[in-house]
Amino acid sequence: MKSTNPKFQLTCGVLAILGITLLQPATAAGAKHVHGQGSLLVAQDADRWQLEFSLPASDVIGFEHAPHSKADRSRLHAVERQLVLPSSVFVVDNDNCEVTDQTVSLPHSSKKQHDEHEDDHDDEHDDHHGDHDESTHSEVTLRYELLCSEPLQTIKVTIFDIAPSLTDIDVQWVTNKGQGKREITPMQQEIVW
Ligand SMILES: [Zn+2]
Repeated sequence: MKSTNPKFQLTCGVLAILGITLLQPATAAGAKHVHGQGSLLVAQDADRWQLEFSLPASDVIGFEHAPHSKADRSRLHAVERQLVLPSSVFVVDNDNCEVTDQTVSLPHSSKKQHDEHEDDHDDEHDDHHGDHDESTHSEVTLRYELLCSEPLQTIKVTIFDIAPSLTDIDVQWVTNKGQGKREITPMQQEIVW
């Protein structure tokens, strides 16, 4: 469906071209992975808006390694349940918008990891692995498409509430009014352009 929608492709193109060549987004391949720091790209294509968050899994989930235990898996499930609600991530100050599509992409998705047999060995594994595998870094990617009959004026990012170790998100936007960037923090969660 998406691949046949020219508007969707155009939005992706805007992100790819303006995002990478002009704004050097933190989400581009090869960008550094810094715990506590995330990025958000916002792109407008007429009445369609796309938001793409890239956040360290350590901040959103609490760990980056593959889940070793039942506790890890239930944490992953709980985070997934929260993230499928867009309001857990952001709120727009516009009654004329609806979320038309969303993708919640967690590393080590709990669905793929669901293996009953594995549970039998969890305790042993925990002893060997400790609480963090330093060689493992992973990102949570969240994409939302909105259809807005009135242009978005502000976005309030609410994910700080469920990811308290997140200290800042670099936001870059490309709208009909231009492009810009700013940093948002738990104390300053609103983007206005
Ligand atoms: Zn990491």
